[in-house]
Amino acid sequence: MERKQFSLGDIVEMKKPHPCGTNAWRVIRMGADIRIKCTGCDHSVMIPRMEFEKKMKRMIKEAVKEE
Ligand SMILES: [Zn+2]
Repeated sequence: MERKQFSLGDIVEMKKPHPCGTNAWRVIRMGADIRIKCTGCDHSVMIPRMEFEKKMKRMIKEAVKEE
């Protein structure tokens, strides 16, 4: 299986939308666990990286890199 690429600040779409109706999540913490925050209601969840990769559908928007 192809490894998904993502980094801090990216906006991703998950296979299952949040109950609030939004399906755009911002990656706010990287590590063994990934924390993502719903862009609709600001609810955040922490999930193990393996699970995140399984549940992530696609990247919507890459984080803006400031230089
Ligand atoms: Zn939400």
